[in-house]
Amino acid sequence: MPPCDTSSCQSAREIFHELEEYYDDHNIYFQTVGSVLEAADALDIPHRLKLIITQPKNEIMVHCPVEMDDGTWQLFKGYRVQHNNVLGPYKGGIRYHPEVKLDEVKTLALLMTMKCALARLPFGGAKGALRIDPRSVSKQELMRVTRRLTAALGDNIGPDYDIPAPDVGTNSQIMAWMADTYINFAETSRKVTARGIVTGKPLAFGGSAGREKATGQGLVYVLDALLPGMGIELSKVSCSLIGYGNVGSWTARLLQARGTTLKAVMDHTGAILNENGIDAEALAQHVQATGGVHNFADATAVNTETFYATPVDLFIPAALEQMVDLEHAKHMQCKVLVEGANAPTTPRAERYLLEKGVEVLPAILCNAGGVTVSYFEWKQNRQSETWDEAKVDAQLKTIMTRSAERVLEMAERLDSSMRTASYAAAIEHIDQVYEMRGVFP
Ligand code: NAD
Repeated sequence: MPPCDTSSCQSAREIFHELEEYYDDHNIYFQTVGSVLEAADALDIPHRLKLIITQPKNEIMVHCPVEMDDGTWQLFKGYRVQHNNVLGPYKGGIRYHPEVKLDEVKTLALLMTMKCALARLPFGGAKGALRIDPRSVSKQELMRVTRRLTAALGDNIGPDYDIPAPDVGTNSQIMAWMADTYINFAETSRKVTARGIVTGKPLAFGGSAGREKATGQGLVYVLDALLPGMGIELSKVSCSLIGYGNVGSWTARLLQARGTTLKAVMDHTGAILNENGIDAEALAQHVQATGGVHNFADATAVNTETFYATPVDLFIPAALEQMVDLEHAKHMQCKVLVEGANAPTTPRAERYLLEKGVEVLPAILCNAGGVTVSYFEWKQNRQSETWDEAKVDAQLKTIMTRSAERVLEMAERLDSSMRTASYAAAIEHIDQVYEMRGVFP
């Protein structure tokens, strides 16, 4: 494939050269920095901020020895990348995945900085990961490795400093173990607020109503805000989904409640299709019981090509990064690509889709519902309050709608794509805060 010739790649190349950093066009961190710089260039953001944004503040790597059930010891590699904290404490999920790499974590941390800035949350951006297949270990092993990771991160995380949350391969149980470990280390005077070390906890242990479904709910609010302007009615559309975990399954169920037809789903176990509609709730139960969409009774198994080529109004990737590349894009037949996952679309695929007239709604807008309700959970923990779901949903709707409007306004102002507009709306806010704060000393 020829080298990338877009202005975003050229901007990224110049900055990576200046920082004497290694890069290649297909590297996900390089691509994401390029997209952010394209927005910065559109706004004439000072060069000094572009340098800051291109490098995470801290990249922490830990190695966790853990005794397995059979008495053997295994060593697990963990990362915590703290990208930027000019707006507030670092905030971002922890991912458990056997193939996770540092550049992926750096990308996700950068996107968290942008996401929190776009939603005007008082948080910076971070991301963590542990190289483990959570499906291949026992519950006790998962608990030991989680506690060991939390201890290894030590003072690098804290309710006023860096607050993890669930991501791919982690859930509320893992957050409960992290919080419990941290509380055991916390000084007596800080134990009350120490549970705010993580968000996405179980409801009974300081979690928030509405957090489990928050990312899907936020995505639906974004569609409510943007689809009417495109002449699309949510109750009359069809969709397909990649991923049927937290984000995918909640998005499917909430969209179904609004009248949307779910035609096709693909996950790590295969792809399924039913032109007449897949029942989102029944599929969620099947995935819960069996671990994946494979063998779901009320749909036909299809290959990857058929899955991508199925005509739908909304195509929603909600699994891992870069799952929509140029080859996939050439087969896709949708009106809107709605990014539920982080960084699911390669720049080449996005350019192709935009030229074809497909609208692309960027992840930092569409999936910000998770971190927004995490912010509500953190606030409730600090104030020893418990909000009901109606209050959470109402406040979530306000923030998601305002963010969507912010992106629309910026897209008009810059005459740009929604992605460039979303990064621009985020980076303009970060620039203003740097301007006021200056850099220490
Ligand atoms: P999850 O672990 O609950 O689900 C992940 C899904 O991806 C599963 O259905 C799995 O089968 C699927 N998957 C994995 N490998 C795949 C492959 N090779 N092909 C097809 N499908 C595959 O994770 P999640 O929390 O739903 O996160 C999904 C995405 O949303 C990630 O990009 C995550 O960073 C992002 N996100 C999550 C949240 C949250 O609140 N959980 C918030 C914002 C963004």
